[in-house]
Order: sequence, then C-alpha cells, then structure tokens
Amino acid sequence: MDYKKIGEKVFVRIDSGEEIVETLMQVCKKLDITAGTITGIGATDKAIIGLFDVKTKKYHSTELVGDHEIAPVYGNISTMNNEVYLHLHVNLCNSEHKSFGGHLTSAIVSATFEGVIDIINGKIEREFDATTGLNILKL
Ligand code: FE
Repeated sequence: MDYKKIGEKVFVRIDSGEEIVETLMQVCKKLDITAGTITGIGATDKAIIGLFDVKTKKYHSTELVGDHEIAPVYGNISTMNNEVYLHLHVNLCNSEHKSFGGHLTSAIVSATFEGVIDIINGKIEREFDATTGLNILKL
C-alpha cells in the first residue's frame, strides 16, 4: 500500500494480497481522517459482501472467490467511540460481466486497487440504534 495526499484528497494504491477495508482504515488512522468519502476501483479474487436483513437485524454474508472487477466501491468515513469507522458498499463484476453487490466486509486485492479519499474537515460520529440494529449516523 502507498498513498499520496494532495490538498484534501488522498490517492491510495493497495497491492496484491492486501485486504482493502483494513488497509483503508490504516490510512484513515495514519492521516487522522474522521469524516469523508471513499471511492475506488480495482480487482479482487476473494471478497465477502453482506446484505442486512431488516427483520432479523443480522447481516447475511456471501463469499465471492475468483476474479472480479471492483466497479466500484463507494462509502463514507466516520467514527464510532472515537475509532475510525468505514461504511463501504461494492459492486463486483465476474468474467461474464455480471454484477454482485452489497455491503463490503472484506476484499483481497488480486491485481491492484486505486482509491481516492475525499477528506471532510470535521468529525461525524455513529451510535448503535436498537430500532434498526445498525450503527447509524449521530448528526
Ligand atoms: Fe452497508
């Protein structure tokens, strides 16, 4: 992984074998980013995506193995209990260009990943909401 900050934007390159969500968290921690947005494209060969079941308040996870284009990943940066919190969703395309999408839990980079973080100067916190079972934005 490597990154370069230009103004309020950060280009992030994540390399083969590295996990995307954890690596983006590391960059946010290093640069003390507490609010912002993330976009990214690249390729993965092992990803876990989720769907939140509103009735049971639980995530259903699916593992996708094999070459997929990340087209794209999108999400936001906030904090919860003063720790960096990423909320990312992803669309993954297979060799037939068919898409699978969902909440991004983890993805291992197969070739490369190119992300751009847009920093928002401020702090956005989350809190657990018993009604939805989700960590929602505290605004
Ligand atoms: Fe989500």
